[in-house]
Amino acid sequence: MSSFKIAIASGKGGVGKTTISVLLYHQLQKTMNETISLVDCDVEEPNSRIFFPASTQTNKEVAYQEIPMIDTTLCSFCRKCVNVCEFNAIMMVSALEHAEVNESLCHSCGACEYVCDRQALGTKRVAIGEMSQHNTSTGVLYEGRLEIGSVMQTRLIGMLKEWGATDHLTIYDAPPGTSCSVVETLDEMDYVILVAEETSFGLHDLKLIVRLVKALQLPFGVLINKAGLGTTPLKAYLEQEHIELLGEVPHNLEFAKASAQADIFSNIPWSIQTSLERVTQKIKHKRVEL
Ligand code: SF4
Ligand code: SF4
Repeated sequence: MSSFKIAIASGKGGVGKTTISVLLYHQLQKTMNETISLVDCDVEEPNSRIFFPASTQTNKEVAYQEIPMIDTTLCSFCRKCVNVCEFNAIMMVSALEHAEVNESLCHSCGACEYVCDRQALGTKRVAIGEMSQHNTSTGVLYEGRLEIGSVMQTRLIGMLKEWGATDHLTIYDAPPGTSCSVVETLDEMDYVILVAEETSFGLHDLKLIVRLVKALQLPFGVLINKAGLGTTPLKAYLEQEHIELLGEVPHNLEFAKASAQADIFSNIPWSIQTSLERVTQKIKHKRVEL
């Protein structure tokens, strides 16, 4: 089988995106004759793994960023590097022959090193987070965890996607919202599932992420979670915009309570199970069609 990359995204947090990611991962693994992977790209708050308390870690790697260091004995304090830095990461006081790079602002673009004609810039490696691989009761799970204080979410997500790349079906749980981290997660996806809820905020934020996936020219559909709970005309919006409704996962209070305690596989209600089966069938068809 060829690879097939599906991102699960939502315009806002709290709609149950991670629960849906984990449920689809579980359901797809049950019905497919290949190993399914789940990549948790919400590197600031990865929580897919809490649904698999018996999972075992099989691999781990620290993710590094290259930060430039200025050798003031070679530097002429010409300020070319300061001027080229788009992120204002270089602090220089020429009169005092002082220069330093702010690690939390530097994006490791390499522009400063490129413009320096005195070879005054070296580099050092700084940890930005950790990537780990786990065997779950379902399949394989990859997780990225950003170092506290680091602003390198996008870089870590890119590295995690590369590290966890497979030649089979993989689900990518995106961070919530429409930030750069989400754009990085959605990059090169074969299909995107947008999880939404029928509330006013839910519809508002769905519209934002629909604009994003359209701008990225990615095929996508919408899955309504906690269906029946809200009253917003979300389906009317989907019809009006000719957006495919992939399915509706009905609201179920008992299941919501179990989900809040990270216990979702032991007693999936029939109505939710039926909905998941329909959605996974659609995913399988998408894989053939796209
Ligand atoms: S470009 Fe090179 S020489 Fe000029 S200030 Fe920067 S580090 Fe120093
Ligand atoms: S690598 Fe890029 S972001 Fe970092 S200090 Fe140099 S120019 Fe600025």
